[in-house]
Amino acid sequence: MDDRTLYQTILGLAEPWYVAEIEVRPATEEIWVRVELRDGATLVCPDCGQRAPGYDRSVERRWRHLDTCQFRTVLAARVPRVQCAQHGVRQIHVPWAEDRSRFTLLFEALAIRVLRETTVSGLAGVLRLSWEEAAGIFRRAVARGLARRVRERVTVLGVDETSFQKRYDYVTVVADLPRRRVLWVGDHRRQETLAAFWTSLVPAERAGLEAVVMDRWEPYLAATRAALAGEPAAIVFDGYHVAQHLTHAVDLVRRAEQSQLRRAGDDRLDRTRYLWLKGTKRRTGADRWRIGQLRRAGLKVGRAWAIKEAAAKLWTYHSATWARKYFTRWYGWALRSRLEPIKRVARMMRRYLDGILVYLEHRCTNALSEALNAKIGGQVSGSGVPQPRELSAGDPVSLRTTRPKPTLNPEEPTCEGGDK
Ligand SMILES: [Zn+2]
Repeated sequence: MDDRTLYQTILGLAEPWYVAEIEVRPATEEIWVRVELRDGATLVCPDCGQRAPGYDRSVERRWRHLDTCQFRTVLAARVPRVQCAQHGVRQIHVPWAEDRSRFTLLFEALAIRVLRETTVSGLAGVLRLSWEEAAGIFRRAVARGLARRVRERVTVLGVDETSFQKRYDYVTVVADLPRRRVLWVGDHRRQETLAAFWTSLVPAERAGLEAVVMDRWEPYLAATRAALAGEPAAIVFDGYHVAQHLTHAVDLVRRAEQSQLRRAGDDRLDRTRYLWLKGTKRRTGADRWRIGQLRRAGLKVGRAWAIKEAAAKLWTYHSATWARKYFTRWYGWALRSRLEPIKRVARMMRRYLDGILVYLEHRCTNALSEALNAKIGGQVSGSGVPQPRELSAGDPVSLRTTRPKPTLNPEEPTCEGGDK
């Protein structure tokens, strides 16, 4: 078997494509495999599949293929262009790669296997890729998974950012939390990143949304507020908004109790409004003393305040099991409080608890990595190349993040050492 036949076989290349030349470059440890299409081969338009006359050939295009031992292996070809009566001049599909990819299908299939075990940065190291190339493979895999999926109504969305080793490498990941699926991945973690996701939704999808779960990150909140303005208000769950709902409930309890006490000539709650609304950071020693005193007096607002303070702790969990246990206790406490405004917020949280738990579990630990089990498809089309096994739904794609663990300080539900 000569070397061209060997490469023809291991590339799985079928007629009318053939290996025209093999070039070994010892200095750069590369093997270049030049592939050509036989003269007179039938050409078809990539858009309509109709036969079309040849027009010309592209400049030489290159695809990274699986290494040959330690030699980086490059497939090179000048791809014919056809002149379709309907679609004009178009470059034909090649059987070994997706359009516009700079990697062969087999290489991408290997990369997806590697991604299941490591980070995008890890993938870059193992397969000697730049971070951009590795991230591109990841994005295309997500896109392929999505292309096969019928658009379903999403009720609870999770938004998270994943950071890679280098600080400036962030992607924004949007997931369908109840179905534990990644819906969308975008570069960076800016307001316009998430805004681009929101504009990809049709109005009915936006209107059908019931809740959005995320951490407190201003650019995401701003993009979400802008996108959902005028929609039947989807509830935004982040540590901050949950505290806000509960703070409002505490205020309602305080108002009712204060007017009740006043009628009995009791002014203990006068001028206490801001005392109950203050966050931990702005609470002085005198505030704490006063709150303690009013709570010991058995006032309703003191009870409501304690329940509100305890709720923040939920955002510090990253184990769904423990978060559920904690919530169950907290929920029981809230319902037994006989404080209607508090019970209303508690019930609202109960309704979206499953989504919140999925979010809490994946955030900060490995950033939705299990949600990314996400049918990232190895499914690729093309002929002449053996088809890689399609990843099954349960195959986790691990995308570990360097993001630190959350703190246990209830007022600081974000990540310690993070720059939020
Ligand atoms: Zn055509």
